[in-house]
Amino acid sequence: MIELRGVSKTHPGPVHALRAVDLTVGAGELLAVVGPSGSGKSTVLNIIGTLDRPTTGTVHVAGHEVGALSDAQLSALRARHMGFVFQHFHLSPGRDAVDNVGDGLLYAGVGAKERRARARAALERVGLGHRLDHRPTELSGGEKQRVAIARALVGEPDLLLADEPTGALDTASGRIVMELLHELNAAGTTVCVITHDQDIADSLPRRVRFRDGEIVDDAGVTA
Ligand code: ADP
Ligand code: MG
Repeated sequence: MIELRGVSKTHPGPVHALRAVDLTVGAGELLAVVGPSGSGKSTVLNIIGTLDRPTTGTVHVAGHEVGALSDAQLSALRARHMGFVFQHFHLSPGRDAVDNVGDGLLYAGVGAKERRARARAALERVGLGHRLDHRPTELSGGEKQRVAIARALVGEPDLLLADEPTGALDTASGRIVMELLHELNAAGTTVCVITHDQDIADSLPRRVRFRDGEIVDDAGVTA
């Protein structure tokens, strides 16, 4: 599902956010990306998600060599294969849960009526069937993250990328979010989760540890 070869990312300074990273993730894996702040976790996730391009190295995702694709082709790749969840939810403030989730299908070319129908079904799947017309300000943190997960899964992605999805949540809400990610993985989705939480990392089958832009440990690797 994911293959990084010699992937580096250098910012002016220079800041070496990633240094020649090799990483292979098979379809159906569930892995934690761990490491101290500034170690390159978000950078690697954004490169896998094609939201950022490496300075050097090659990236294959879902059978495509990402470096060979235009921005429009990358948008299509993301729409067809990927879902994203972020620490601070990234929901549109003025829009209700159904519209926020339906936006996950905008770039997949799905009509408005079907977007709403599928958004409702996705919200029911994450246990929010009773919050369909609530706006983000009318939802708890845990509920907002479940809306974000519904938006990520509504397109039936092969790959779900989550950057600190429990980082802004209380323990109980975080547990519900992790249960949802486990369920998605059990249904066949490859899931990569950045986490600072050692208990969460320990609960996942594979843990890739970054330090100073390099992978320093890869425990439980199955690929
Ligand atoms: P993490 O997610 O592990 O906290 P990041 O991947 O966000 O780390 O960042 C890795 C390093 O790259 C850090 O030193 C960070 O300051 C730096 N960095 C990330 N993005 C940029 C950028 N756009 N410009 C300059 N430096 C950046
Ligand atoms: Mg980060």
